[in-house]
Amino acid sequence: MPAPLPVFLRLLLLFKLVAPVTFRHHRYDELVRALYKVHNQCPDITRVYSIGRSAKGRLLYVLELSDYPGSHEPLEPEVKYVGNMHGNEVLGRELLLQLSEFLCEEFRSRNPRVLRLIQDTRIHILPSMNPDGYEVAAAQGPDMSGYLIGRNNANGVDLNRNFPDLNTYFYYNEKYGGPNHHLPLPDNWKSQVEPETRAVIQWMNAFNFILSANLHGGAVVANYPYDKSLEHRFQNPHRTSESLTPDDKLFKKLARVYSYAHGWMHQGWNCGDYFPDGITNGASWYSLSKGMQDFNYLHTNCFEITLELSCNKFPREEELEREWLGNREALIQFLEQVHQGIKGVVLDDNYNNLPGAVISVTGINHDVTSGEDGDYFRLLLPGTYTVTATAPGFNPETVSVTVGPAEPTLVNFQLKRITDQVYPVRRVPGGGPRSRGKVLSRTPKRKDTATKRQHRGPA
Ligand SMILES: [Zn+2]
Repeated sequence: MPAPLPVFLRLLLLFKLVAPVTFRHHRYDELVRALYKVHNQCPDITRVYSIGRSAKGRLLYVLELSDYPGSHEPLEPEVKYVGNMHGNEVLGRELLLQLSEFLCEEFRSRNPRVLRLIQDTRIHILPSMNPDGYEVAAAQGPDMSGYLIGRNNANGVDLNRNFPDLNTYFYYNEKYGGPNHHLPLPDNWKSQVEPETRAVIQWMNAFNFILSANLHGGAVVANYPYDKSLEHRFQNPHRTSESLTPDDKLFKKLARVYSYAHGWMHQGWNCGDYFPDGITNGASWYSLSKGMQDFNYLHTNCFEITLELSCNKFPREEELEREWLGNREALIQFLEQVHQGIKGVVLDDNYNNLPGAVISVTGINHDVTSGEDGDYFRLLLPGTYTVTATAPGFNPETVSVTVGPAEPTLVNFQLKRITDQVYPVRRVPGGGPRSRGKVLSRTPKRKDTATKRQHRGPA
C-alpha cells in the first residue's frame, strides 16, 4: 500500500487541479471547455456559436464578445480573429483563448478601455479553423520533427490555398472595367472548397465584418494584401514583386499598428529574416493564390491582414506567457483600429434603411456596401475625401468629409428616388461634436433589444 502523500504535496495537487492552468496548449475538448468557461464567467457579454464542421466533423466554435451578444447593433462594427488555420501553427489558437479570457476578466473589473471596446465593437473569435490538423500536430507535440505535419486539413488540403481565386477577376476588372468590390463567388464554389473554407465563407457572408486578422506562425511579420502576385512570369524565387491593393496606405498602417504594439515584431529582424517595420506585402514576400486575406477584401467589406507570430510554429508551453505578453497590446490595438474613417446609415426619402448601397471614395478603387440595417463602415486614414453613396433606383449623393485621427466621422446619407438630376454637394466638417450630434439625431442608435435583428450565424 503506498504511503499517503505529504500534506503540502496534497495541497499542491489540489491547487493545480482547481487553479486555472493558463499557459498551456489546449487539445480540442479543452479548447471547447475553455470557450464555455469564458462564457460562463461573462454570460452577459459573450456567446459561443459554431459556424460549421471540419472534415472530421469537429464543430468550428466561435466566441463572440459584445454588449449585446447575438445581435448586430446599427453603427457598431463587427470584427474577427481567426487562428490555427494551419493546424501545426498553434500560437494564435492559444493567444486567442488568452485574449478571450483577458477581455472577459477586464470587463468584469471595469477596465475602461475594455468596457469601451466591448460596448462599441462586436468581436468574433475563431480560435481554430483547422481543429483536425491541430490534433495531428499536437499528437507530435512541440518537438515534432516534421515541419508540415498537421498543416493541412484532414483531406490534405492547405486551407490558405483553398478560397476561390477572385484576384484574377479583379485584376481584369481594374484594367478593363467592372466591379471593384464584392466580386461574386463562382457558381460551383461549394464543391470546390473544403468544409472548413465553406464554413468560413458562409460566416463571412452572414456578418458584415469590417476588420480581421488571420493568425499564423513560422515567421514574425504582419502581412497585408495582396498575397497573389500579378507578375508570375517574372517571379524571383526569393522575392516577388509587390502586389498592392487600392487601400495600400491603410493596410500598411493596420500592419504597422500590430507590429509596433507587438513586443519585437517591429524590430524587423526575426527568425533569420528581415522585414522593415516588421510588415510586408504578401506577394512581395512570396506569392500565393486562393488565400483568405485577398478573398476577404475582394468578396466582402472586410479588411484582413495575416499575422505571422512565432518562429517556432509549435512553441513549448514555457514560451506561451512571454508570447502572450508580447502580443496582448497588439491584439487589443488592432481591434481598436476598426474605429476610424467614416461610418453612417444610408436611408431612402422615407427614412427606411437601404441595405446594399455602395459607398465610393474618390481616388480609392475599392467600394464598400451598407449592411442589412443600412449602416456602412469605411476605414480611412485621416484626410479629406469625396464620398458618394449610390443605390439602384436612387439619385447618388456626394459629400466632402474630413476624417480625423481618432473616432470615425459620422456621415449619413438620405438618397432620393430618381426624379430629377440635381446632385447637391454638401460639406461635412470632420470630428466636431456639433456635426456628429446633428447627423446622429436623424438616426439614433437603437439599443432596445426588441427591435434588434437576431443574428445567430450559420449553424
Ligand atoms: Zn500558416
